[in-house]
Amino acid sequence: MHQFVHILLRPMEYDRPVSLTPEEMEIESRALPRLLATEVAEEPEVPFEGHGLIFIRIALHLRHRAELAGTWIVAPNDLCAGWRYGLSHARRYEVALSDEPKQMTGKSAFEIVAAKPPDPFSQLWDDDVFAHFQFRSYFTNGGTV
Ligand SMILES: [Zn+2]
Repeated sequence: MHQFVHILLRPMEYDRPVSLTPEEMEIESRALPRLLATEVAEEPEVPFEGHGLIFIRIALHLRHRAELAGTWIVAPNDLCAGWRYGLSHARRYEVALSDEPKQMTGKSAFEIVAAKPPDPFSQLWDDDVFAHFQFRSYFTNGGTV
C-alpha cells in the first residue's frame, strides 16, 4: 500500500493507454519494482522527502478505504510518518485528519489533494518540519540554538 501511494501521486508515469500487448504488460510489470527500488536506494536530503504532507494524507485515506472494504492493511505507522521519516507518529496524523477520510470516501486522490486539509493536520506537519530543521540546525551549529 505504501508503494501504491507513490504510484497514485505520480500518475503521469502510469497514465498510458491500456492497449498494451501481453508481452508489453509483462515488461511494464517487471519495470515497476525496479523503479520503486531505485527511489528507495537514494539517500534523501531530509528523512521525510517524498513522504510528506500529501503522501501521509493519501496513505491514511487509502488505509481507511481498505478498512471499509474489510481489509486490515497495517498499523498507520507502518504505512507512513513516524520516526523513520523524522516525523510524529502516524496515529497523531490520523487523529489530526479527523473524519476527513470518511467525509471524502467517494473522492479521487486528486480531489483530496486539491482540498484544504484540516488545520490540525497541517499544523502537525508544520510543527514536525520546524522541529526537524531546528534540531538539524542545533547540531550543525555545534549545539547552540
Ligand atoms: Zn516510500
